[in-house]
Amino acid sequence: MTDTPARPANTAIRSTGGAKAAGVRQVRPQTEGWQQAKDESGRPLLQFASPKRGKPPVHLADLTPEARVERVKELGLQGFRAKQVAKHYFQHWTSDPAEMTDLPAAGREELVTGLLPNLLTEVRRLETDKGDTIKFLWRLHDGALVESVLMRYPGRITLCVSSQAGCGMNCPFCATGQAGLTRNMSSAEIIDQIVRANRAIANGELGRREHPDERVTNIVFMGMGEPLANYARVMHAVRTMVDKKDGLGMSARGITVSTVGLAPAIRKLADEDIPLTFALSLHAPDDELRDELIPVNSRWKVDEVLDAARGYYEKTGRRVSIEYALIRDMNDHPWRADLLADKLNARGRGWVHVNPIPLNPTPGSVWDASERAVQREFVRRLNDAGIPTTLRDTRGKEIDGACGQLVATEEDQQQAAEAAATA
Ligand code: SF4
Repeated sequence: MTDTPARPANTAIRSTGGAKAAGVRQVRPQTEGWQQAKDESGRPLLQFASPKRGKPPVHLADLTPEARVERVKELGLQGFRAKQVAKHYFQHWTSDPAEMTDLPAAGREELVTGLLPNLLTEVRRLETDKGDTIKFLWRLHDGALVESVLMRYPGRITLCVSSQAGCGMNCPFCATGQAGLTRNMSSAEIIDQIVRANRAIANGELGRREHPDERVTNIVFMGMGEPLANYARVMHAVRTMVDKKDGLGMSARGITVSTVGLAPAIRKLADEDIPLTFALSLHAPDDELRDELIPVNSRWKVDEVLDAARGYYEKTGRRVSIEYALIRDMNDHPWRADLLADKLNARGRGWVHVNPIPLNPTPGSVWDASERAVQREFVRRLNDAGIPTTLRDTRGKEIDGACGQLVATEEDQQQAAEAAATA
């Protein structure tokens, strides 16, 4: 999910009631330059079901190893060829039949295109941080646009992936949510973002190489979409990521699933028995504010979501991350830091850490950055209450690739249309 509020705009700040102390400014969430879709009762519309659209072609990465064998047989070859093609795709990151010389020449092209249909067409790429960060814009088979952001850090390479085209969670700060949910992405569309990133790394396209065998080490589901609203496909993709024999062989600990708080799906995730890193984008500890900031809070309130997050820790032993974008005079008050600490400590010690996320300053917007001193005070209060708290890196912002800002521009749409015309 894209989860960091940051919409530049010129709307004047509204000060309203609701603050816990007299004289404390309380800026309320509001959309800027667009209108939230509302339901009959006037509440922001939530979209859980994916609209019906043509499904993407079935790809090897959508299938279990057994189903891959069946598919190869359907294509007229012996079943063991499935493993060969999977090895080319998951270990050498290629979908090019010309590179698969261990397959018989006769029927190779048909086999490979049948198993590895093209899913992502690169429309545009933006680089920053001296080439250490790349934002890819992809066009899917039906013209939908999604993005992934690849980031090199010392000793690790992180890819921020999309799990849905658009999003149905309708957060008022979020560029992705504005147009609603276009559709769920398939497992293979999720996996292919990683394979394509690995290919770019292998080609030396991501900054300065540290060693020749580099590949993506960390995945964060913080691109477009709410991953837990596309649960089955995301989980199939995750299983393929961690599958050492027939998949990408990544470490589960390096994969972060992030959510705005779909409590039943968090509980389900805890039962999967995969030691993923779990991140909850909380952004407010009180329902009064969070109902407006994260509309899905009207379904599952702060306490229920925190209970589900605590349950995740109990089942997996993995410490939970709480993401908290600090927004000037909206959610950055000292009393909110104290309330957050109280709610977390009420559920035990040592199970959680908090990542406050500094925003880009956008003066005049309700989504403005907290002042430095306010950020420091917020962090201090949490740390003093025994909650490990560190300000998060927000790499990628310069290319509009930080979470919460991932949206295709008109220019992107234009380029996608041109790419489609020449495909
Ligand atoms: S609208 Fe969707 S993508 Fe945007 S912040 Fe909310 S959950 Fe994340």
